[in-house]
Amino acid sequence: MLQMVPSPPRQRRALTCAGATFLALFLAFTVQLRPASAQSVPVTDWTDADLAAAAALRDRALKGTSAYEHVSSLVTEVGPRLAGSAGDEAAVRWAMNRLGKLGFTGVRTQDVLVPRWIRGTTEVTLLGPAPQPLVAATLGGSIGTAEEGIEAGVIEFDSLASLSTGQASDIKNKIVFINERMERTRDGEGYGKVVKNRVQGASVAANLGAVAVVIRSVGTSDERFAHTGRMVYDVSAPRIPAFSLSNPDADVLSRQLKTNKQTRLRVKSSAREMPSTWSANVIGEIPGTDRAGEIVLLGAHLDSWDLGQGALDDGAGVAIVVEAARLISRMDRKPSRTVRVVLFANEEFGLSGAKEYARLIGEEHAKHVLAMEADTGIGPVIRLETQVAPESLGAIEKMRKAMEPLVIDSGVNTASGGADLGPLRALGVPVLDPVLDATLYFDVHHTMNDTLAKVDAKTLDQTVAAYAVAAYLAATKQGDFGRLSPVPFDR
Ligand SMILES: [Zn+2]
Repeated sequence: MLQMVPSPPRQRRALTCAGATFLALFLAFTVQLRPASAQSVPVTDWTDADLAAAAALRDRALKGTSAYEHVSSLVTEVGPRLAGSAGDEAAVRWAMNRLGKLGFTGVRTQDVLVPRWIRGTTEVTLLGPAPQPLVAATLGGSIGTAEEGIEAGVIEFDSLASLSTGQASDIKNKIVFINERMERTRDGEGYGKVVKNRVQGASVAANLGAVAVVIRSVGTSDERFAHTGRMVYDVSAPRIPAFSLSNPDADVLSRQLKTNKQTRLRVKSSAREMPSTWSANVIGEIPGTDRAGEIVLLGAHLDSWDLGQGALDDGAGVAIVVEAARLISRMDRKPSRTVRVVLFANEEFGLSGAKEYARLIGEEHAKHVLAMEADTGIGPVIRLETQVAPESLGAIEKMRKAMEPLVIDSGVNTASGGADLGPLRALGVPVLDPVLDATLYFDVHHTMNDTLAKVDAKTLDQTVAAYAVAAYLAATKQGDFGRLSPVPFDR
């Protein structure tokens, strides 16, 4: 309000007593007149009352939330929930019950067809002068081997790029070992640099004649856990089985190869693909008041990998968005827009739920004012990145300020928003991307060590506070965050 009354310093210095009296009268008059002239002055993003309500919401969250309880319930009552599995089906039922019990409205599902893959058993054995079993995981989507497995010599590469330029004559009939370590960073940036080894390694190796591929886990821990995750076969390449080794086991293999080029591996897997099956997105809402048709979306994914409990990936994300919305529903000052929680089906195996959501909402995508997702563990939130219209960046900065005393930096306006928001972003929906501290996240990501033991309730509360403030302010903001230019979505 105050910024509406200009008072340049030079003018203020020249004020006499009479001038001050005049200014006071002028101010009082202006303030009284504001409601009548509201349409002719620039619209503010939020009233002081909105901002005070957001601050109270933040403080309420910091006193302690039920987020830990949500994730504990999910991993205890459901456990692993690989797309299309019995656990996945149980997770959909769990989410329907949970949202219903918490008082969400419009609790419903959207049917989603998902691929079905069975891991079966995995065995990777180092043969040779010092034979030993290695801790390994079959990569998601990999074919299995014949019962006797595949036994072959090993050729090591330090990256996918060096494999790409390898000689077919060296690689033919060998097992390719891609040995590239993921770098530990606070924002998880190291993941993007090496995840292509997992996704594309098998097809690049197969095109050069390899019989199997083994990669160093895409993960930062030196504990003995192998990290699974999705791999994809190129249609033009022969299909070969793909595995990851725990970091210490990748070290053993690499050391043996240094002293003995004849080192061999035997890989065995009973993985197989089954026909596609049904899963579902689960949706629940906190209805808006005067602009209920406009939507602020809070997303996370309900599925997980099968090795662990999916406590961090993405039980924590589910808990964060559900709890942020629940806290908003308990406020006296209701949001004018609807806050919609979407728990997406099958993020891990190809974003099936996210794609289907974007398809099913049709033209309603234009009513999605802002979308945000939680899918990097428990937090805390360290930075606020966005992809919004540049003229909305001032509002984002005010939003960030409303999160203080949480220590959250401002970030770029080129954020992706996260995997499950891809199809919406492509339709032009602006995204807010709270960057979570991922320093420790990739120690357990996609491993059997992704359990509730890694979830810290206090940290989760900080993250919930940031998400709740962001969602509440987005749902009360005068005006929107603009639209992005639509682009084709090709993943
Ligand atoms: Zn995830």
